[in-house]
Amino acid sequence: MSDTIFDKIIRRELPADIVYEDDDVLAFRDIHPQAPVHVLFVPKTPRATLNDCGPADAALLGKLLLAAVAYAKREGFAEQGYRCVINCNRGGGQTVFYLHVHLLAGRQMPERMS
Ligand code: AMP
Repeated sequence: MSDTIFDKIIRRELPADIVYEDDDVLAFRDIHPQAPVHVLFVPKTPRATLNDCGPADAALLGKLLLAAVAYAKREGFAEQGYRCVINCNRGGGQTVFYLHVHLLAGRQMPERMS
């Protein structure tokens, strides 16, 4: 897996607006937000895409999502609602090849995903 901007953010070689961190997960604001709240949740151990995850990664994938849920609750928009998205590979809209969950909130999300 090649070195990505998210690897550099995790190593603190690139600045980022970090909003959450624990032993396994780092979360920071997206540099080009698509909603009033747009936070990216990344695992500290790299995987390029969702396709690179297997059964051994089930707990980690759960941690990413639960970190997003905890953030939504802490910031007070969980009940209002939010969207979590993982883009996989170019056809799925992925541009940074380091696994990440987008958390989007603060505006009405369209019912259709396209
Ligand atoms: P994706 O298209 O799913 O791979 O999402 C990559 C996201 O990373 C995009 O929403 C970008 O705006 C975001 N992004 C790219 N560079 C940075 C950066 N240096 N800091 C924060 N977010 C970034």
